[in-house]
Amino acid sequence: MSEQTHHHVIVIGTGFAGLGMAIRLRQQGMTDFVVLERAADVGGTWRDNSYPGCACDVPSQLYSFSFEPNPSWSRSFSGQQEIWDYLRHCTDSYGVRPHIRFHHEVLDAAWDHAGRRWRVRTNRGELTSEVLITATGALSNPSIPDVPGLDSFQGKVFHSAQWDHGYDLSDRRVAVVGTGASAIQFVPQIQPEVASLTVFQRTPPWIIPRSDRDNRRFEQTLYRAVPGLQRLVRAGIYCGREFSVLGLAVNPRLLTLLELVARAHLRRQVADPALRARLTPDYTIGCKRILLSNDYLPALTRSNVDLVSAGIAQVGTDWVQAADGTRREVDTVIFGTGFHVTDFPMAVRIRGRDGRSLADVWTEGVQAHRGTTVAGFPNLFMLVGPNTGLGHTSLIYMIESQVAYTIDALRYLRRTGVAAVEVRPQAQLAYNEVVQRRMDGTVWTAGGCASWYLDAQGHNTTLWPTFTWRFRRATRRFQPTEYVAHEHVAQPVAA
Ligand SMILES: Cc1cc2nc3c(=O)[nH]c(=O)nc-3n(C[C@H](O)[C@H](O)[C@H](O)COP(=O)(O)OP(=O)(O)OC[C@H]3O[C@@H](n4cnc5c(N)ncnc54)[C@H](O)[C@@H]3O)c2cc1C
Repeated sequence: MSEQTHHHVIVIGTGFAGLGMAIRLRQQGMTDFVVLERAADVGGTWRDNSYPGCACDVPSQLYSFSFEPNPSWSRSFSGQQEIWDYLRHCTDSYGVRPHIRFHHEVLDAAWDHAGRRWRVRTNRGELTSEVLITATGALSNPSIPDVPGLDSFQGKVFHSAQWDHGYDLSDRRVAVVGTGASAIQFVPQIQPEVASLTVFQRTPPWIIPRSDRDNRRFEQTLYRAVPGLQRLVRAGIYCGREFSVLGLAVNPRLLTLLELVARAHLRRQVADPALRARLTPDYTIGCKRILLSNDYLPALTRSNVDLVSAGIAQVGTDWVQAADGTRREVDTVIFGTGFHVTDFPMAVRIRGRDGRSLADVWTEGVQAHRGTTVAGFPNLFMLVGPNTGLGHTSLIYMIESQVAYTIDALRYLRRTGVAAVEVRPQAQLAYNEVVQRRMDGTVWTAGGCASWYLDAQGHNTTLWPTFTWRFRRATRRFQPTEYVAHEHVAQPVAA
């Protein structure tokens, strides 16, 4: 049987955002949609990042859907497998799986204004829809730096988001490039098995203790019996995390206390003053993501570990050399170098009303209205779009806000019968002026660091600059006055 090729809605991606969107669509009775996923399973981040030690760094009670609490979380910060299982459970229990087309990579999508529809080209053929919702993730395309000589390396090379579980690390001489959120999770896990481990650090991260523990059986039973209690715990964690915005975004001087905690943690875990000095950041805490770990710093003090305080500059057949000239012979290179974030990989693939791609439009500055819609791109809704990222709390909160906003827009289309909505440039501009004004003076712009939050021009187009409840408020209602409504075009009647 041939598959239907036109749908009311096409969603791209099956991470938290795509699944959350699909669940809400079904709950609204909007069942004419497909979800296109390039991989073989759902899960996004939590399918791909299977490196040893991978876990969330926002407590699971908060890092989960608000409508699907899980009383059975095994720990405060659950591991990758458990979060992935949770997403598969949501997929099946909310009836989303029949809507998903796996192994469908979206190659490009173009708005056909005459037909008032999106033409979506995939590796398996073309589909069309009235509405296109991207949920392709901000951290889903691994970034490997373009290091001279990397092609000539004779050993094994992989990125932490593409961990090769068939490759035995025992007795290997391993170079780890990068000291971000992923590296600090897998370094302590692989350190005991490898022969030697050289960590190439361009900039040290600020690290604070991770208050992780097993959830007790009685807590899980209690949450099952009294769901309100779990909601209360979730709300408590949310408020605690929002409190940190006072330091990150209102007055960075308030972060001094957190810096003292991080310094004490470093002193407790690293006895050698010289090593400690190399592990002490020279920028304000919070400017880059604050990392949580109890075992990364101790791992660096082990006899088989060596810290090089410079990024890698060159690779040879069996060696890696840092920018300061330090060279190490290795047989394995693992990149913990993060993802393509500010260049939005999907942006080159989406073309709007005048044929220009999002990437072209964004050369003049990356922005979206309420993080979700862009002038010139009718009926396009982007989940986790510009300035919706977070440094301090759960991204699921932002995703659920955007999903509600998008659903409200779809209800408007249904109610009014208009074919498409397109944000007015003035509304988009006004919104983004407020966002960037709020960004001024935050630790992300004034903290003295170069982070992956900033684009090539030094603008922070990644993070939401204030309390997250403000974003919830900004996306509570779809405001028709901020949009142009495109009516249906009368189709010529055949003679
Ligand atoms: C290791 C790690 C730990 C993290 N921990 C936290 C945390 O503790 N708290 C927090 O708030 N956030 C955390 N994050 C951020 C995390 O990415 C988000 O919280 C969330 O999972 C993003 O969901 P998403 O659906 O937007 O994107 P993703 O989970 O990245 O899903 C995107 C999906 O789109 C698919 N896709 C992409 N392009 C295409 C295409 N062209 N065609 C078809 N399909 C496509 C991908 O295959 C993928 O399945 C973490 C990220 C990483 C990498």
